[in-house]
Amino acid sequence: MPTSPNHGLRNQGSLPKVNGDSSSPLAVCPRSFRPRSATGGARRRRRRAKWTSILICAVCCFAPIGTLAAADYEAATVAFQTGEYQAALEAADEATNERYAEPRWWRLKLECLGVLGRYKDGAAALEKAQRTHNADASIRTVGFELLRQSGEAKEARESLTELLRYAASSPWRYSSADDRVWVGRAAVLLGVDARVVLETYYDQAQKLDPNLREAYAAVGELALAKHDLGVAAETYRAAVEKFPDDPDLLCGLSQALSEDEEEESEKLLKQALARNPRHLPSLLIQAEEALGHEDYAGAAAALDKIALVNPRHSRQWALRAVLAHLQADKFGEWYCRESALETWRDDPEVDHVIGAKLSRAYRFAEGAKYQRSALKIDPQYLPARNQLAQDLLRLGEADEGWRLVGEVQAADPYDVVAFNLATLKDRLNNYTTLQTPHFRLHMEKREAAVYGSRVLALLERARETLGKKYGWTSERPVTVEILTRQQDFAIRTFGLPGGDGILGVCFGMVITANSPAALAGRTNSWEATLWHEYCHVVTLEQTQHRIPRWLSEGISVFEERQADPTWGDRLDRDLRKMILDGEMTPISKLNEAFRNAKSPDHFNLAYYQASLVVEFLVERHGHAVLRRVLMDIAAGVPINDALVLRVGELKGLEEAFDKYARAKAEAYGPKVDWTDDSPSAPPREPASAVAAWLKDHPQHYLGRLRYGSALLKENKPDEARRVLEGLTADVPQWAGDESPYTLLARAHRERGDAAAERTVLERSAAGSSDALETYRRLIELAIAANDGAALRKYAERYVAVQPLEEFPYRPLVEWTAARDGVKAEHLRQAAADARSLLALEPADLAGAHFLLAQVLHAAGSVDAKRETLLALEETPRFREAQQLLLKIVDAKPKAATKPNSDEKPKTEAKPKTEAVRKPTRVDP
Ligand SMILES: [Zn+2]
Repeated sequence: MPTSPNHGLRNQGSLPKVNGDSSSPLAVCPRSFRPRSATGGARRRRRRAKWTSILICAVCCFAPIGTLAAADYEAATVAFQTGEYQAALEAADEATNERYAEPRWWRLKLECLGVLGRYKDGAAALEKAQRTHNADASIRTVGFELLRQSGEAKEARESLTELLRYAASSPWRYSSADDRVWVGRAAVLLGVDARVVLETYYDQAQKLDPNLREAYAAVGELALAKHDLGVAAETYRAAVEKFPDDPDLLCGLSQALSEDEEEESEKLLKQALARNPRHLPSLLIQAEEALGHEDYAGAAAALDKIALVNPRHSRQWALRAVLAHLQADKFGEWYCRESALETWRDDPEVDHVIGAKLSRAYRFAEGAKYQRSALKIDPQYLPARNQLAQDLLRLGEADEGWRLVGEVQAADPYDVVAFNLATLKDRLNNYTTLQTPHFRLHMEKREAAVYGSRVLALLERARETLGKKYGWTSERPVTVEILTRQQDFAIRTFGLPGGDGILGVCFGMVITANSPAALAGRTNSWEATLWHEYCHVVTLEQTQHRIPRWLSEGISVFEERQADPTWGDRLDRDLRKMILDGEMTPISKLNEAFRNAKSPDHFNLAYYQASLVVEFLVERHGHAVLRRVLMDIAAGVPINDALVLRVGELKGLEEAFDKYARAKAEAYGPKVDWTDDSPSAPPREPASAVAAWLKDHPQHYLGRLRYGSALLKENKPDEARRVLEGLTADVPQWAGDESPYTLLARAHRERGDAAAERTVLERSAAGSSDALETYRRLIELAIAANDGAALRKYAERYVAVQPLEEFPYRPLVEWTAARDGVKAEHLRQAAADARSLLALEPADLAGAHFLLAQVLHAAGSVDAKRETLLALEETPRFREAQQLLLKIVDAKPKAATKPNSDEKPKTEAKPKTEAVRKPTRVDP
């Protein structure tokens, strides 16, 4: 099969989130929500009145006969858990009217008032509660947020500080499991070291009462806050087993699993909302998820539900500000932020949340601005410092970013993201920076020595080519980081390990990529990946990150193919089938194909289709149209409007594109039977059995391939050639190491026809960017045919996939070293290849120094002597090196060899390559 294992891999992460298609109608604040006019206020009051009456009925239902005895705390907490907040509040009201009401009733009352956004009432109730329960830990801790949201942040802190003082001076007073949890929570709110809280309070509480729900919830919350998803998942799992209906715990587990078990996480969130459709933390996650998927209508709907419960909910307003920002609604953004800060002017969380969500939507610069604003309000607010550090690293402002990482880590050693980044920073000390006016390239030192200059050359070429095409080049250097370990790549890119299979990510002015060493044997052209990512730099920066993801990906893949026909996603059997089965997404909704991909195959289809749409637009309307669309997007025009404006109505465009894509799919092996091989797969051998199977399926792709393979195994290369020639003629696009070309080439080889073998392999190489085995054999055949140009061509292609092996460098340098009259530029190239070889620290170090010495000597470089001496230092009796040294010492200094286009093998140099491979070694 024409495998494309890497496309989906890279693609899954190459652009995690960008601003997207904003064509769907949205509930935009403030106009469609919570108007401040008098009429709006009246409407709101009416709505609340109706709601209350419904809830009063609910109270009647759950509270048996309306007496205070209804002081059934269990029933009230059930009401609270299921979202009947008003009912729970009324029960708590009734209970707390009693003179000696228990603290838990007060706690419930405060919780209800908090959820409903009645902060001032809450603060007043807190005061009352403290008249009888002044030292109660739960009341003070729950009261903290009520005081803050009532504009009494200072008093809130003082209250908890006092509580911790009580706990320190009279520990006996807080010796119950429940009290320990609440004192622990107070300590967390005051910023006490998380580990201390765990050990001093939470662990003790769990020991005292292994069934305490509050203890599980507190540990889970703390772990989530510190991004320790492992501990959070473990805690919440145990909790959900004991309390399967608790929406807080279900929601917590859902968050803990959101990275690694998406499906399970979604299921849990649904469960939480089924139990309590008004559960604010779950609705917040729903809104945030929708925002992350650019589903603005979905986000607004979830936020509306929150506002129905608590119209003052600050985080809800903060997310509305994000929604407005993403839709270029400046006034709405201002209004929503103001509303978020209405109850507590100095709440640093508001700007932090807005900034963090903007960063998630790829607006790092704006995100960083909000974090700075949060830090202006509260310079000690760690979440903002943490997020700002990550934003700056993604913006390429590494010095300040790393400094902040260090600060966050020192202040909060328990935060997993900061810890990961700080550890990564230590490892990055092994990295070096190659700097040009246009790029800052960070690579591991050894890798930089081997192929750093190749990376820079490729990036410069991408900058030049794409800059001209799109009319955009950066004024300041783009940062490119190539990481040697997959884990480091993931931490640098996402803050957390994971993301296996992603090849590269572009953040705008920063690209991070996996080195071939990090790919654990999988093949991929790093050149194609960097070209793709650099193209994102252009389209993201040019549109101020407003470009929808599908278009940015489509252009990047399209430009890969333009730069090199073997790069970029290519049609294969799977894509062909999906296109013909009607699995493509209409252009107007193409972003959904990325955010809701049903499977990795659908993800691949999204990339391929996006690139085809771009190809189609350029073919039909010219490249200028693409540039105009990008300019429209930069100006804030939604993509679909821009398409209508520049190309015409969408329906016609979609229909024409569908025809275009289908024609391409149909042209992929039209005579071949591509049906699935199950339920009756063709046998692998013997050939006679495959032949029998083929009688019923004469054109079947896999049957024909296996028939060719079986014939080769049975030493029938002539018959195999006939079968495989037919298959490659029917579907010439099926190329690469795993294609019929490879078998056909083997048939020719076995027949002793090197010329035919080469032709077939060249055709295969022309259709694949990562066919290492094909390139390797072509290099061997080029050497045998004395074809220096082909040797260089396929060695370069080998290096573009695997630059960290000695293999292609050695034959390249040997070939040059064995020839007279080589052009100066080829000698320079050979010297660079020899240096790459040396940087790989080959087993035959003396031979590598000698090779470099030879090409340097041929180029007239004085460094030849040094390299010869180094070879002799390794192997003192290395005869050829000794001879070269004599030659160098005897020779007068001369100019570089005169260029000569006829590069002839040195006649007397026949044993030279052998000599290099097997130098005479003497033990010291
Ligand atoms: Zn991409």
